[in-house]
Amino acid sequence: MLVLSPCVCDDVDALSGIDWENFGFGLRPTDFMYIIKCKRGGEWGKGELQPFGNLEISPAAAVLNYGQGLFEGLKAYRTADDSILLFRPEENAMRLNAGADRMSMPSLPVDTFLHAVKQAVLANRRWIPPPGKGSLYIRPLLIGSGGVLGLAPAPEFTFVIYVSPVGCYFKGGLAPIDLKVESFYHRAAPGGTGGVKTIGNYAPVLKTQLTAKGKGYSDVLYLDAVENKYVEEVSSCNIFMVKDNVISTPELKGTILPGVTRKSIIELAHSRGYEVLERPVDVEELLVADEVFCTGTAVVVNPVGSITYESRRVKYNNGEVGKVAQELYEALTSIQMGHAEDKMGWIVQLN
Ligand SMILES: *Cc1c(COP(=O)(O)O)cnc(C)c1O
Repeated sequence: MLVLSPCVCDDVDALSGIDWENFGFGLRPTDFMYIIKCKRGGEWGKGELQPFGNLEISPAAAVLNYGQGLFEGLKAYRTADDSILLFRPEENAMRLNAGADRMSMPSLPVDTFLHAVKQAVLANRRWIPPPGKGSLYIRPLLIGSGGVLGLAPAPEFTFVIYVSPVGCYFKGGLAPIDLKVESFYHRAAPGGTGGVKTIGNYAPVLKTQLTAKGKGYSDVLYLDAVENKYVEEVSSCNIFMVKDNVISTPELKGTILPGVTRKSIIELAHSRGYEVLERPVDVEELLVADEVFCTGTAVVVNPVGSITYESRRVKYNNGEVGKVAQELYEALTSIQMGHAEDKMGWIVQLN
């Protein structure tokens, strides 16, 4: 077990070389990672902080050979009085456990997950950007780390958390993005794994995403695999539309990732008097919507400026940020950053 020296360098500006004004969503190595292991059928061991670095893993590891792996994503914010805030971390713990069940991996007690997140954040606290400059992105992984040859669950599992300071996901703050509807490739199918954050769901979307980016789009919007006409979500965020002040988002039925931001935006919109419907959303409806925006931990709430479906391109709000997206963005981020009172009980303060 590694003994930590007290973190004396908590003056973020003393960190040389980081231009907090101009860093996006990229990986920056930090000081520590947190690791816990578990044998198949056994209990989770004692977790520990280790210096951030490479993992040693068998080439026969189930995660490498058969994709037995899950990830999570959440953020820590630094406030003006130097507190550290987490947003609904127990939601991530519960989603990880739902995924662990789907992927035949052991679940992790919610308290163990929360303790691990706190340790990882506090040990790296000097990397949390100053208030308003970004956040510390927290990436938990649950992987089948033990080796197997035949297709079977791993004999050993590893839970690891690493962190990285991040700025805005898309440059320029709340700038509307351009989406391309994909009508050939699908992200998920009924009965598959689209509803869990399993690692294998992400490399397959790169092909369509890279093609779309090459044509100037920001990302891809997927349709359902059965009828190829109902909107599902973007590669790594959920989608909402607004029509006549009613907010709609595709219902969760196993093919869409149940985003914590999605859930929070639904609850916030309700509390502000909006009607919010979780229902099938036909892509044609999206094309006549007043506003479209997407949500996720990385993107927060991001307005959609245009959608291109086959040969049709629809623009929203003349490239401006829609008023519902703007209102909900401000409502959400002011809670996350500690500027507004946390009436929902969503914030976990670390110190
Ligand atoms: C992580 C993710 C989201 C957003 O979930 P949040 O909990 O809001 O971060 C949406 N869609 C996909 C495919 C994702 O992987």
